[in-house]
Amino acid sequence: MSELENNIAKAEAYLARFRDTGVLNRIGGADCPALSGATFDNTSPVDEGFLCKVAKSGPEDIDAAARAAHDAFAEWRDMPGANRKKVLHKIADAIEARAEEIAFAECLDTGQALRFMQKAALRGAANFRFFADRAPSARDGQNLPSATLMNVTTRVPIGPVGVITPWNTPFMLSTWKIAPALAAGCTVVHKPAEFSPVTARILMEIAEEAGLPPGVWNLVNGFGEDAGRALTEHPLIKAIAFVGESKTGSMIMKQGADTLKRVHFELGGKNPVIVFDDADLDRALDAAIFMIYSLNGERCTSSSRLLLQSSIAEEFTQKLKTRVDNIRVGHPLDPKTEVGPLIHKTHFDKVTSYFDVAREDGATIACGGERVGDKGFFVRPTLFTGASQDMRIANEEIFGPVLTALTFDTEEQALSIANAVEYGLTGYVWTNDLTRALRFTDKLEAGMIWVNSENVRHLPTPFGGVKASGIGRDGGDWSFEFYMEQKHIGFATGQHRIPQLGA
Ligand code: NAD
Repeated sequence: MSELENNIAKAEAYLARFRDTGVLNRIGGADCPALSGATFDNTSPVDEGFLCKVAKSGPEDIDAAARAAHDAFAEWRDMPGANRKKVLHKIADAIEARAEEIAFAECLDTGQALRFMQKAALRGAANFRFFADRAPSARDGQNLPSATLMNVTTRVPIGPVGVITPWNTPFMLSTWKIAPALAAGCTVVHKPAEFSPVTARILMEIAEEAGLPPGVWNLVNGFGEDAGRALTEHPLIKAIAFVGESKTGSMIMKQGADTLKRVHFELGGKNPVIVFDDADLDRALDAAIFMIYSLNGERCTSSSRLLLQSSIAEEFTQKLKTRVDNIRVGHPLDPKTEVGPLIHKTHFDKVTSYFDVAREDGATIACGGERVGDKGFFVRPTLFTGASQDMRIANEEIFGPVLTALTFDTEEQALSIANAVEYGLTGYVWTNDLTRALRFTDKLEAGMIWVNSENVRHLPTPFGGVKASGIGRDGGDWSFEFYMEQKHIGFATGQHRIPQLGA
């Protein structure tokens, strides 16, 4: 048996139980189908075959979950932070113990390559540990004395919150949003993406087996327009942490308006990697390729626009083409695979439609521009050259293994192209000129910028975007700022004069 056959057999074995029971909701510590009994089919990105049935929930299921989260809130909020810390560390231990199951299930469900998903489970565990350690100090505040009052601040968890996640790296993203919510003392209703429900269910089971009280975390599957929408509109849900497309963020803001929802949005991107001619060009090449072709290009922080200084553009592009043509497309469970299939037909159709858009716009398809095989959603890694900033391929988020290369002459031109899009999530700047790096990063419109580096996440730093890429920040204390309310209390320290009306 080859390593791939062996991996497929293992992954099938991990998913077998879902074939029997389907992916159920979990509300108040109990497994439940959708109250209507409805289900939908989850299919494989590899061969479009049936993977499992999934509960197709509606407003009534969300209502049950929101009530369960509401009922569990007071006890979880009042549990000492040190005890919450212990539970969250146990969840991290259990994630590590089931890392292979999580990785294999994620590959089969999403099409992401094993070489990246092996680390996703461990990163998920690291998210839990990071916020577990901060749980005991989450409520800490400040002492701001005035002449007449001892003013203190404290933070309290906002209440039950809704978490809505996308399908690109569902396990990692779920841990990223849910771990700080639990550490803060909030209870959670999670609505995972309809295209990738499996690892959200495994994660939920892990949490309760590790000792999380029933109702603290509830899982409701279903589509965005019914289950997702109902979650954003539910009056018992105090805030929505959302990761997904910018236009969905806009809908959620409208849907949440009547109940005054606090929202945190991590949205789309069309992120530039800018390479100046004085940079370490070999490292820039490695990083640019990694940041667009890893994770199938289904990555919000991907460097989907390559801005090359004209003096180095030709040589850089030649080397780039050789490497892109060499990227190994294959089964996600093959350890050699670098790019797996896209998640779903809808998304495959969107990504491949840009091949015609590029041609119509007058760009050159220098690599790829075609599907691979006739089954599943495999796409050849694609490079568009000869592009200009007015083209759709230079402005719209494609969210696949597709890179648009542009050229510039001066620093001012580079900045103008980099900032010309509606998004502003990340930027990557390659130069060995320190003062230029300082100048450029100051003016670049992005929430996160790396200089002479690919995206290397450090959990205490703020994660989030500007413009159409998001509202709010994750990471470190920023996560607690979202999931908690600041409270001020003023204690009189003496007999200060109180104005006397009607005296
Ligand atoms: P999507 O917006 O289509 O769906 C995301 C989630 O929202 C899903 O669970 C979906 O069911 C739900 N949803 C859809 N409509 C809804 C509605 N009206 N009300 C409530 N919920 C609704 O996004 P996607 O296609 O699953 O994911 C890809 C997008 O996510 C890309 O744009 C990508 O850039 C973005 N993303 C951003 C980050 C980040 O950190 N900024 C990270 C990963 C992905």
